[in-house]
Amino acid sequence: MANSTESHTSSLISLQEALDKLLAAPAAITGTETVALTDAAGRITAAPVISPINVPPFDNSAMDGYGLRLADWDGKTALPVAGRALAGVPFKGELPAGYCVRIMTGAPVPTGVDTVVMQEETVVSDEGITFTADIIRGQNIRLTGEDITQGSEVFPAGTKLAAAQLPMIASLGLAEVTVMHKLKVAVFSTGDELQAVGQPLGEGQIYDTNRFAVSLMLEKLGCDVIDLGVIPDDPSVLRGIFEKADALADLVISSGGVSVGEADYTKQILDEIGKINFWKLAIKPGKPFAFGKLDNAWFCGLPGNPVSTTVTFYELVQPLIARLSGFSQWQPPMRIKAIAATPLKKSAGRLDFQRGIAQVNERGQLEVKTTGDQGSHIFSSFSLANCFIVLERERGAVKAGEIVDIEFFNHLMKND
Ligand code: AMP
Ligand code: MG
Repeated sequence: MANSTESHTSSLISLQEALDKLLAAPAAITGTETVALTDAAGRITAAPVISPINVPPFDNSAMDGYGLRLADWDGKTALPVAGRALAGVPFKGELPAGYCVRIMTGAPVPTGVDTVVMQEETVVSDEGITFTADIIRGQNIRLTGEDITQGSEVFPAGTKLAAAQLPMIASLGLAEVTVMHKLKVAVFSTGDELQAVGQPLGEGQIYDTNRFAVSLMLEKLGCDVIDLGVIPDDPSVLRGIFEKADALADLVISSGGVSVGEADYTKQILDEIGKINFWKLAIKPGKPFAFGKLDNAWFCGLPGNPVSTTVTFYELVQPLIARLSGFSQWQPPMRIKAIAATPLKKSAGRLDFQRGIAQVNERGQLEVKTTGDQGSHIFSSFSLANCFIVLERERGAVKAGEIVDIEFFNHLMKND
């Protein structure tokens, strides 16, 4: 039995092998532009971001309290207050010997002050200020350049800009940032059975799901989507659309028509106009997958079943798009361990991307259960899930209680 599974699946290529081939040739599509910081969310840096200033730009107080020259404090004699230093309103001049200064959080530390004591550790009297706690020289002072030094690299090229990065660039005073051009991606679905949404279904027709799935994920990846609609299974129409897509886009993504047999003319057309490999992947769902180069653009042909389309997009097209769009800091989905809370059906031979619902149980452990039927046409398995349960190629059925790998869905699949 094991042998027959082995021979049946030995012509399949592993996900890793496919990824290696997919990422071997393509380089980032060059072309950069400078955009306002307010328009830069989701864009990818085209050059390192270098800080023009020190952050903080000057030594400043970390507390509301009093600044002093520590050598002036004898442990008992009150120091009179020479003046005030506020955030944005510095104390003018140098601190006179034997005095202290009222200082607020964010205020520049006056020349001569080497230490700040928070006001909770002070006593105010007519003579001035005395200090009630042990004092360490330099305490409560944020030093110039402590966060970022002038001229240092804040982000490398290939960083995607979001709420964790953009405020940092704003803190450097930079109003603009140089980013990669958005990747232009042409998308179409193939199949005589496909009907566009909003139209009544004719006999034998189904609605086109894949263009939605692919376009939505492309938008989340920051691509410019060129929607070329539904294309019938007609060689001359298909050829025309491949040529059009190739002229318009950096990357062309089709779905359907790449499974063996039925796809003969897709393959024939692609052989004429490009260098495309048709792979049988050892993953489930998502066996058929085509990848290569048209005259101008790169091309991915995804399998037709919507779950397969989505899984292959997520696992293979996502890293390709990161590469082509210059997102060199992209990280592959992280796999972590969880306890299977339900049995999982599986036969050896392919790497499974089952859809699962992961949660922390009452003992604080991460556990995952199946969404149910894992058929590649069952899209509800996606709408219920928050993760993939990734089951190794040679693994068989999983019993409840076994440890499995999961990948939490990233922003492609979610809105939070
Ligand atoms: P194919 O790869 O063209 O043989 O398609 C495999 C299965 O996926 C068939 O059941 C198709 O009807 C279905 N399918 C193909 N494209 C789509 C699509 N865009 N939306 C929904 N189902 C599709
Ligand atoms: Mg088809």
